[in-house]
Amino acid sequence: MAISDDQRSDGIEADIRGGLAAFEFEPFFQPIVNFSNSKLVGFEALARWRHPERGLVSPADFVGAAESSGLIRAIDRVILDRAWRAFEDALKSFPVRGPPLLLSVNLSTEHLLDSAIVDSIEALMAEGRGIISRLQFEITETLLINNKDMAEHILSRLKILGITIALDDFGTGYSSLVYLHRFPIDCIKIDRSFSKEILTSPRSHAIVRSIITLAQSMDLRTVAEGVEQKDVADELRALGCEFGQGNYFGKPTPASGLVEIVKAAPRG
Ligand code: C2E
Ligand code: MG
Ligand code: MG
Repeated sequence: MAISDDQRSDGIEADIRGGLAAFEFEPFFQPIVNFSNSKLVGFEALARWRHPERGLVSPADFVGAAESSGLIRAIDRVILDRAWRAFEDALKSFPVRGPPLLLSVNLSTEHLLDSAIVDSIEALMAEGRGIISRLQFEITETLLINNKDMAEHILSRLKILGITIALDDFGTGYSSLVYLHRFPIDCIKIDRSFSKEILTSPRSHAIVRSIITLAQSMDLRTVAEGVEQKDVADELRALGCEFGQGNYFGKPTPASGLVEIVKAAPRG
């Protein structure tokens, strides 16, 4: 008998629930680097599912099902919590001089529209965690357009707590300018689909240049995603992009590799 889409999604949903209960979701960390001096400025936490049979599963294979079932909130929460702890432990065992390292965590739209996220952060702060000034949330444009008031309210509360906000995958959604106009955004992440073609497509080059100019004139930081080659990094730097992230600078690694990266990286 053929398996229907509903049965298939029930299966993965149950599997995700099991994975959450068994503590199988964990953050990997990818370095974010300052283009002007190649120094480490922080990390993005990226969810991975250490599945007992399927091995290490990437978000592409579970985020969709987790979003449609509402389980994404639990995953986000686990990643935030584990990333925060791992980050603090790493910094405790290897205190660094210079500006504080940033921890950037992805937040699903559904989570952003739920004021419980603010309560969670307040609870983490009440535990005496010290790195709140270094926490950033990455949000995407999906669905926010229909919930502008709520999103604005929650983002403002997060800002009061000292959290910075990055607009992820910039340029791939719609109405991006509305978000920049309306929400307290601090940083734009330029999507890999543009930055990877910067040397081969004049259109991508023009788009990236325009995004950087826009960000500069609004006093927003820019991070180029998916940088894989030195000449792409050089061009982004020449265009005035401040920060880069991608396999050229470092692939996502498990928490056990954090201290080594921090130790080895030039800072400042
Ligand atoms: P994103 O937030 O835009 O993250 C960047 C993605 O680009 C990551 O994919 C990263 O591994 C990948 N990447 C980084 N550098 C390179 C590169 O040089 N080349 C290539 N080809 N890829 C690169 P990943 O880890 O598979 O995550 C995919 C997406 O899943 C993320 O995109 C984010 O939207 C979502 N995601 C990841 N973790 C979480 C999470 O904890 N919560 C939520 N809600 N979404 C998450
Ligand atoms: Mg992201
Ligand atoms: Mg992105």
